[in-house]
Amino acid sequence: MQHFPVFLDLQGRPVLVLGTGEVAERKAAAVREAGAAVRFAATFTPELLEGCALAIGADAAEAELQALAVACRARGVPVNVVDRPGLCTALMPAIIDRAPVTVAISTGGAAPVLARMVRQKVEAVLPPELGRIAALAERFKSAVRRRLPDLAARRRFLDGVLGGQPAELAAAGREAEADMAFAAALDAADLALPGIVHLVGAGPGAPDLLTLRALRLLGEADVIVHDRLGTEAVLEMARRDAERIFVGKARANHCVPQADINTLLVRLAREGKRVVRLKGGDPLIFGRGGEEAEALAAAGIACEVVPGVTAALACAAGAGIPLTHRDCARAVTFVTGHRRDGGVDVAGLVRPGQTLAIYMGIATLGPLREALVAEGLDPATPAAVVERGGTDRQRVLRGTLESITAEAPAWVTGGPALLLVGEVVGRSARGWAAAA
Ligand code: SAH
Repeated sequence: MQHFPVFLDLQGRPVLVLGTGEVAERKAAAVREAGAAVRFAATFTPELLEGCALAIGADAAEAELQALAVACRARGVPVNVVDRPGLCTALMPAIIDRAPVTVAISTGGAAPVLARMVRQKVEAVLPPELGRIAALAERFKSAVRRRLPDLAARRRFLDGVLGGQPAELAAAGREAEADMAFAAALDAADLALPGIVHLVGAGPGAPDLLTLRALRLLGEADVIVHDRLGTEAVLEMARRDAERIFVGKARANHCVPQADINTLLVRLAREGKRVVRLKGGDPLIFGRGGEEAEALAAAGIACEVVPGVTAALACAAGAGIPLTHRDCARAVTFVTGHRRDGGVDVAGLVRPGQTLAIYMGIATLGPLREALVAEGLDPATPAAVVERGGTDRQRVLRGTLESITAEAPAWVTGGPALLLVGEVVGRSARGWAAAA
C-alpha cells in the first residue's frame, strides 16, 4: 500500500486553495462539502498556511506550487497539487458520498480515470439509502454499546439488524418504525451469543473461485483458522482485523495435531467468537472436515459447512478434462493415494467407463501404479497430473499411467498435485479446452 487512507475532519477548519481558476473552484467545492473554510490565494506566502488542515495547489504558477509543496512539507500540512504526484503528500480520492457513509478510492495517482471507473462500479452496488441505514446505527450507537459491551456480540447483533428489517425500514424512509424495530431487537439481543464455527471451503486458491457465502463469512469472522499455504489471496478477502491462526500441516509434517485443532476450534467458539475454519478445496473431501464437525458436535457447538471447489473439479476444469463423458466415463471416483497407515488401497476401483481423481497420490505413484495394474487397469490408460490446478500457476503433465509414473516425480515442483486417470484424459487433448 503506497498511501494510507484516512478521513480528515475539516469542519470549520481553514484549507488553503492556491489558484483562482476552474480547477481551484472545483477543489474548493469538494472540501466545502466537508465543512472546510476555504482560503483562496493566487500567490503563495507561508503565512497563508497558518492553522490549515490541508493545502491544495491548483492552477497557479509553477514556482508558487513548488513553494507551497516545500512549505507544507516543512510544516507537516498535508498538500495536494493537482496532477503533480511528485509534489503531493496527500491524494484526492474519487469520492462516494452517502453521508455519513463515505467511500474514497485512489489509484495512488497512477490512473485517476480508473479510480472513477471503480467509483461507478461501487456506486452501483451501494444503495442510495445507505446513509439512512448508517444514521439508524448512529442513533443507537451508545445504547448498543451499553447493552452489548462485548465486541463480538455487538458485531454480530449489528450484522443482524443492519442486514435485516430495521435497516429495510430505515432505507424506506420509515424512520420511527425503524427505530422501534431496532430497539426491540436490541432488547431481545443475547448478551453472550454462542460462538459458531463455519467450515469453509477455500477452493483451489483463486479468490474468484470462492463462493459468495464463503466471501461473506470471511468478511464477518472474528477468527480465521487456516492451514494451507497458497491461500494468501483468499485470506486477503477476510476482515482486516480478524485474528488469523495458522495450523498448517503437510502430509508428512503434522505441525498441529488434529486433536489440538479440534480443541482450538471448540475453545474459540466457547469464547463467543465467529470462527471460520478455512480449508483448501472442499472441507469434506480429504479435508478432515468431518472430524472437526464431529468434535464440534460433541462439544455442543454450532457448526455449518460451506462447500468449496474441490481439487478434482478445479483441475479438471483448468486442464480441460471432462470428468464424465457419455462416450467413456459414467462415473468418477475421488480417492486418496495414501491411506492413514501409509499404504495404498485401490481395491475394487478399477472398472471400465470410470475416471479416477487421485488426491495425495504423487508420493506413492509407483505403488499406486502397481496396485491399479494388479486390479486390471491397462498401464496405457490416459492419465494426467495437474499441479496447482485452478490457480494462475497451474501446470499439466499428460500421458499414460505408465509414462506419468515415470515422469511425474521429476516434473512436479512441490505444489499440490492431483492425478487423473481414465479415457477422458485422452479426450481432452483432442477436445474442447486442451489447456497447457
Ligand atoms: N479438501 C481438499 C483436498 C485436501 S487433500 C480439496 O477438496 O481439494 C490435499 C490434496 O488435494 C493434495 O495432495 C492434492 O492431491 C490435492 N489438491 C489440493 N489442491 C490442489 C490443487 N490446487 N491442484 C491439484 N491438486 C490439489
